[in-house]
Amino acid sequence: MKDILFEQLTETQKNLLQQAKEAGSHYFNKKGTRRVGSALLCSDASVYQGTSIRRTNVSNSTCAERMALDKAIFEKKYSYETIVIVGFFDGEIEDELISPCGLCRQILSEAENYSGERRNIEVLMSNQNFSKIIQTTTQELFPIAYQAKSYESQNKLTT
Ligand SMILES: [Zn+2]
Repeated sequence: MKDILFEQLTETQKNLLQQAKEAGSHYFNKKGTRRVGSALLCSDASVYQGTSIRRTNVSNSTCAERMALDKAIFEKKYSYETIVIVGFFDGEIEDELISPCGLCRQILSEAENYSGERRNIEVLMSNQNFSKIIQTTTQELFPIAYQAKSYESQNKLTT
């Protein structure tokens, strides 16, 4: 996990940040000013955007990175290179960087293996003006993740 400057990113990464920022403008949040945009780069170079949907109950809300991933799954894209998450906070903390919630970390960790071949996914987290960017990976964000395989093997023992 490291801080990285926008200028140090590749053109592909810079474009992904711009697409994630654009995605954030599609947010739905009647209660507050917080919003998130995401862009997911698949191994075939296709990109899927997602935005945050804030509902009355937080647990019924949708995170931007999950929306991007679900759109890719809908198109049967199961292999991913990079996911970018850009946070927007109006007011005093507008420079704050966003980071995936625990549920998204679990889901992104599982997504490493959707293609059948475990693939560590690069994660770029940024604030809205790209002045703070962290570069990491799904495995670094969520090490020793819960795996369905172990659940299945445990189940086999009991049935
Ligand atoms: Zn989340």
